[in-house]
Amino acid sequence: MDFAISEKMQVIIGMMREFVEKELIPLEPEFLRKEFRDLLPELEEKRRMVKQMELWAPNHPKEFGGMGLDLVEHGLVSEVLGRSPLGHYVFGCQAPDAGNIEILHKYGTEAQKAQYLAPLVEGKIRSCFSMTEVDMPGSNPVMMDTTAVKDGEDYVINGQKWYSTAADGSAFAIVMAVTNPEEAPHLRASMIIVPTDTPGFNLVRNISVMGHAGSDYFSHAEILYQSCRVPQKNLLGPEGWGFVIAQERLGPGRIHHCMRWIGICQRSLEMMCRRAVQRVIAMDGKTLATRQIIQSWVAESAAEIQAARLMTLHAAWKIENLGAKEARDDISLIKFYVADVLQKVIDRALQVHGGLGMTDDTIIAFFYRHERAARIYDGADEVHKMSVAKRIMKRA
Ligand SMILES: Cc1cc2nc3c(=O)[nH]c(=O)nc-3n(C[C@H](O)[C@H](O)[C@H](O)COP(=O)(O)OP(=O)(O)OC[C@H]3O[C@@H](n4cnc5c(N)ncnc54)[C@H](O)[C@@H]3O)c2cc1C
Repeated sequence: MDFAISEKMQVIIGMMREFVEKELIPLEPEFLRKEFRDLLPELEEKRRMVKQMELWAPNHPKEFGGMGLDLVEHGLVSEVLGRSPLGHYVFGCQAPDAGNIEILHKYGTEAQKAQYLAPLVEGKIRSCFSMTEVDMPGSNPVMMDTTAVKDGEDYVINGQKWYSTAADGSAFAIVMAVTNPEEAPHLRASMIIVPTDTPGFNLVRNISVMGHAGSDYFSHAEILYQSCRVPQKNLLGPEGWGFVIAQERLGPGRIHHCMRWIGICQRSLEMMCRRAVQRVIAMDGKTLATRQIIQSWVAESAAEIQAARLMTLHAAWKIENLGAKEARDDISLIKFYVADVLQKVIDRALQVHGGLGMTDDTIIAFFYRHERAARIYDGADEVHKMSVAKRIMKRA
């Protein structure tokens, strides 16, 4: 077993880490104060710098201008970029575009690649993924109300979606809709590319999540598809394969998320340690760091982060070398395990900061609000635990 990180990756990670520390973390106070949309000019400038350093789109194919890193390499990158909420966006590997790029690359026609994939990898446009519905359980998405009915050369889409992350300002959505109602549940839906300027694509609102509706990339939209008509050539992959492709999209996506969360954990731990050694809490000059309970939190956090990191990199290695099917259990295990570590570490970091932790004077309260969702999206904890436990028990 070789745990060594190649020289190439050490250089890349070092450069990215320096950029995050020097260029992005100083922008965070502004990010917390302003609407994301108002920060775009500054972020564009940072993106330009990243492109000049040839660090743009680390996980995307070389032929489209990315760095072409494999999943383990991108896992390492994702941890470093995850240290700031701006990291993935500025380096052009943010969700949900990253997942959309993967499936467009694998299933897109040449025309779809030219129209949607190329400008997406370049960062000229953004996209969203529109599957979850207001009135249907996202945990069991085969229960889907949205339909795409053929009419002449077109599909006519009707349905109500929400949590279409980053729809605000996106050029197109990849929409999941039932095209084959007569088939078995997992073969009923298809993915269809819908440009957001299509009549009938109605962005109702950016949902207020944890007290903030957000804007542009940092938002989650409710979308009403009302007789939304797109040509049938906008079908992505074979008809009825929506869930098959969605599964493929989620495997690597979970590695990206988990490693991003580990970056958040690592930064939170470092902040917790710095605060603990600086904060004097007794007349004799002793700091929080002298208290055993804090030491215990630091040690537990360090152990849990390392366990989460190794589990995730191993799952990435398995996807890369044995395929997503072989790595199914590992993908489920990391999804709920790392999300749990994330919550615990952020919570401890916030607690050590006391009242300061609740303010937006540090990034911790943002992490606390924003990352609660980790236990819900891309499969809620309970769903992953249930499905992996069933498979483990079956084998036993
Ligand atoms: C921040 C955020 C971003 C998102 N981004 C996107 C996006 O870009 N595109 C998109 O399409 N969707 C997105 N989603 C939606 C997300 O995928 C769904 O919220 C998720 O799949 C859960 O579906 P639901 O909300 O309908 O919950 P439900 O399906 O109603 O489940 C509610 C709860 O019930 C429990 N539960 C469910 N099933 C079981 C079970 N079998 N056994 C035991 N307990 C169970 C779980 O605790 C679950 O949290 C996002 C969600 C969030 C919070």
